[in-house]
Amino acid sequence: MSSHNQSRRSPGDTLLIDADDTLWENNIYFERAIASFISYLDHKVHTPAEVREHLNHCEHATIAAHGYGLRSFRRSLVNCFEQLSGCSVTDEEHQRILGFADCIAHHEIELLPDVAGTLADLSVRHRLILVTKGDPAEQTGKLERSGLASSFTAVEVLPEKHHDAYLALSAHHRCDAARTWMIGNSPRSDINPALRAGLHAIFIPHNFTWILEHEAVEQPPAGQNLLELQAFRQLLDHF
Ligand SMILES: [Mg+2]
Repeated sequence: MSSHNQSRRSPGDTLLIDADDTLWENNIYFERAIASFISYLDHKVHTPAEVREHLNHCEHATIAAHGYGLRSFRRSLVNCFEQLSGCSVTDEEHQRILGFADCIAHHEIELLPDVAGTLADLSVRHRLILVTKGDPAEQTGKLERSGLASSFTAVEVLPEKHHDAYLALSAHHRCDAARTWMIGNSPRSDINPALRAGLHAIFIPHNFTWILEHEAVEQPPAGQNLLELQAFRQLLDHF
């Protein structure tokens, strides 16, 4: 076999794996919808960058009140439109704005390179649990359409991926922290809270990570490992 095997960990680890922008493209569709929204709004005073910034502000508020997912995204677009135009949206404007979000809902799942084969291989030796956040129906629907569901022994769709959520999840699935790794593209949701919960972490950056997920990667506490990989397939060098 390949030299990969020599540095691989022994079988039986638990790999907690993020979905959006780790297994498949996600944020690029939102960015496209937002670009369409900004040109539709065509604001006479605010620049596109200012509109984008105001939308971030609306998204923060909506997510805090209603959680992640497309329903919140639609609500944020409408709020942003009304706040910047200074009046309520008409029925026609409302339909147009919903249309931008609907493009995302109907998009084909586009897997990132080598994801399917890598997961199938990893699942032979390790326990794989999908750990994502957002609307449960949306996220499980994407997993079904992705064709990847059979590689996972469990699926967790959390309202927010913070430190307490990782502790609860680890307890629920009886994870041995010394043999459990959180793998994902988001420092804010995948890496830092998992490290704070005593787990190892593997950061696989994506070039188009959502701005609300940006955060500096923390250094792991003593005894915990943090790896940074450039591609999903490189997991096979370690597991
Ligand atoms: Mg992600």
